[in-house]
Amino acid sequence: MAFELPDLPYAHDALEPNIDKETMMIHHGKHHAGYTKKLNAAIEGTDLEGKSIEQIIENLDLNNAAVRNNGGGYYNHSLFWQVMSPNGGGEPTGAIADAINDAFGSYDAFKEKFSAAAKTRFGSGWAWLCVHNGGKVEVCSTPNQDNPLMPGVGCGGTPILGLDVWEHAYYLKYQNKRPDYVSAFFNLINWDEVNKRYAANK
Ligand code: MN
Repeated sequence: MAFELPDLPYAHDALEPNIDKETMMIHHGKHHAGYTKKLNAAIEGTDLEGKSIEQIIENLDLNNAAVRNNGGGYYNHSLFWQVMSPNGGGEPTGAIADAINDAFGSYDAFKEKFSAAAKTRFGSGWAWLCVHNGGKVEVCSTPNQDNPLMPGVGCGGTPILGLDVWEHAYYLKYQNKRPDYVSAFFNLINWDEVNKRYAANK
């Protein structure tokens, strides 16, 4: 079964003014769709066909550039849409709030560390909040479409929050002002979804 582009869980303009409609249309309808199509082409007829995206990227041969880039792109964007919401933002509650306080000392300290990971990623990539077995959370970043589930890439653990810092994610509205986009992302974080992913992967 080929991978399919997942629908956005909200309208293209739902994240305005933090992320503009046109960016969302291109990002989902062109970029994410492109990764999906190229991932399917890369695995067609190989022993990866029929496996879940998690199985594919957890057991990835890092030299397989087509699967690395497009499998990562498929997974990363599928997560990205889900961890944002027009009703998001604010401080986390529940188990993820406790895990963040344990790991970083406070929400503000987490915010600072995650923002730094996003702002200092040179070129294209992602900032992540990951959970390890046992429930400890950690912040890291990866280049390109790499993902912490890939062997030896990023901080390990399972990503439960991700921020795309490729220019295609923000350039139309923010141009070179990546820090403003990073700052706006905190108005969108869907902490209910992050809590669900934390509970499922801790
Ligand atoms: Mn992207």
